[in-house]
Amino acid sequence: MRRDGTNPDDVQPEDVLCDFCLEPAWALNRPCVEGHHGSIICGVCLSKAWVVVQCERDGEAPATCTMCLEDRDEPGWRGDTSAHICKRCIKQAAGAMHKSKDWDWTKPDCS
Ligand SMILES: [Zn+2]
Ligand SMILES: [Zn+2]
Repeated sequence: MRRDGTNPDDVQPEDVLCDFCLEPAWALNRPCVEGHHGSIICGVCLSKAWVVVQCERDGEAPATCTMCLEDRDEPGWRGDTSAHICKRCIKQAAGAMHKSKDWDWTKPDCS
């Protein structure tokens, strides 16, 4: 998400916040994946989401996903905010982050 008051013609790294922890993911040079409507999840949040949903097979009740805007009938994860990410988006984002050569991000080990 963009920080309130961001100039759309001159977006600064500090203006780009993770929807799930509200930290400036770009300025911190964290890996991040974008969803619809400028939504963003950073690597730190994605790791937490992965552990809860993929490793512990737990998660929040289904809700409208901030990343894909769909209302999917599967558990998801919620960060420090009201943002919600569905299981499918967690898998997709993890795949993208894992593959990217720009970032040193690996899926958390469930064992
Ligand atoms: Zn985050
Ligand atoms: Zn989703």
